[in-house]
Amino acid sequence: MIQKLLKRARKIVIKIGSNTLAKEDGTINYAFICDFAAQCAFLIESGKQIVLVSSGAQVAGLSTIDCWTRKTDIHYRQALCAVGQVELMDNWRTAFANFGLHIGQLLLTKDDFSDEHRTLNMRNTLFTLVDEGVVPIINENDSVSFEEIKIGDNDNLSALTAVLWNADLLILFSDIDGVYDKNPKRFPDAQRIPVVENPAELRRNISVEGTSDFGTGGIATKIDAAEKAGAYGIDMILADGSAPRALASLADGSGQGTVFIGEETWRRTHSGQ
Ligand code: GLU
Repeated sequence: MIQKLLKRARKIVIKIGSNTLAKEDGTINYAFICDFAAQCAFLIESGKQIVLVSSGAQVAGLSTIDCWTRKTDIHYRQALCAVGQVELMDNWRTAFANFGLHIGQLLLTKDDFSDEHRTLNMRNTLFTLVDEGVVPIINENDSVSFEEIKIGDNDNLSALTAVLWNADLLILFSDIDGVYDKNPKRFPDAQRIPVVENPAELRRNISVEGTSDFGTGGIATKIDAAEKAGAYGIDMILADGSAPRALASLADGSGQGTVFIGEETWRRTHSGQ
C-alpha cells in the first residue's frame, strides 16, 4: 500500500524530526542530510513535488554553541534556535546544491495559519517556489513563538502545511517505524499496525492501554497530524527516518511504516478501487 500511495501522490510533504537529523553526540548529521537530499532529488526528477518540514534548529544551535547546553532559560532556547536555524539551513542548502536544487525557507507560527491574508501569502509562496523547482523547507519560528502562538511540534505544523498546500501525501519520519499495539520498547511481542483507518479510535485504544509514551514527540501528535490531514483527504505515512534510504525504500516498496488513510483513500479502498 505504501508504494501505491507514493506512486499516486504528486505533492508530498515530508517531515523530518530532530532525532533523525542528529547524531548520537547531539550534532547535526550532515551525511544523513546529503543522503536525504539525494533521495528527494531523485523523486523530484521523477515528477514529484516536495515540501520539507525540518526540525533541528535547537540541535544545530547546541552543536554550534555548545557552552549553552545547560542554559534552560526560554530566552536562551529561542536564541539557540536563531543560531541553529541558520546552521540547519546551511546544511540543507549545500546538500541540495549538489543536485542543482535551490531551497527556500519559511518560518511559521500558529498565528500565521489563522490569519486569512498570511495564509494566502504562505500558499502563494509555496506554490511559486515549488513551481519554480525550489524546495521549500519549513520550521516553526521558534524565536518569535511563545505559548499563545506556538504550534509546539512539527508533526502538527507539517499537517497544517499539507492542508495549506493541498498535498496528496504527508510522510512523517520519526525514530520509530510506525504505530504499535503496545510499547515496542517494553514489549517484545508488540505488533506494528500497518494501516489505521480511524485515528480517533486508535487514540482511544492507546490511551486505554497506557501506551501513549512511545515514539519521539509522543504518538499523540502523530495521531493529531493524521486526523488533520485525513480530514482533507491527505494520507499520512509514519516511518523510521533513520532506516537506510528511508524515503527511497518507501517509494520502491521495501520500506515499512504505518499508513493513516485519508477520507479519499478510505472511500477508494472500501469501493474496491
Ligand atoms: N522547531 C523545533 C526545532 O527546530 C522542533 C519542533 C519539533 O521537532 O517538533 O528544533
